Amino acid sequence: MSAELKSHIEKSGFSTIGCFDPAKLEIRPEVREMCAADKCHEFGKNWMCPPACGSLEKYQTLLKRYHTGYLFQTVAEMEDAFDYPGIEEGSRTHQQRLNDLVKHISHTEQDILLLGAGACKLCEPCTYPNAPCRNPKRAIPSMEATGLVVYDVCELANIPYYHGPNTIAYCSCALE
Ligand code: SF4
Repeated sequence: MSAELKSHIEKSGFSTIGCFDPAKLEIRPEVREMCAADKCHEFGKNWMCPPACGSLEKYQTLLKRYHTGYLFQTVAEMEDAFDYPGIEEGSRTHQQRLNDLVKHISHTEQDILLLGAGACKLCEPCTYPNAPCRNPKRAIPSMEATGLVVYDVCELANIPYYHGPNTIAYCSCALE
């Protein structure tokens, strides 16, 4: 594991970090069908989500550029399964950490690909479709947009997806 990138991930506040081989990532076309069902209400509303984010073939080629991947999580604790404020707070914390990670790696010329949890929220609201992306070099596609199943990547990185009752794990990746 690259000590520098791992250190940036840790400094950003992520505690659960695992390493995986990007060559073993499996892109699944059915994930795009789940995106099209639009349960997250982001389909067709963000430059980094389908259909604007590009084809699965593009991501198949892109992922091959990287030799090491890191899966990291924010594990939020909820009072119960209906603790929506707790769920939203966990999502906000994860996004804030992801934004911090973007800042930490912005000084490097190294090619690092971040894959987020859900639609890109780097500069809300997204300019899609009325204006070009404000930050195409750092915009963050979701893991799902690239056709990855989050659970599969957790397994690959040897990190639990489920952390017990009344918890929710927000997952993202960094590839270098
Ligand atoms: S960087 Fe901003 S404009 Fe670009 S995809 Fe992300 S939220 Fe949208």
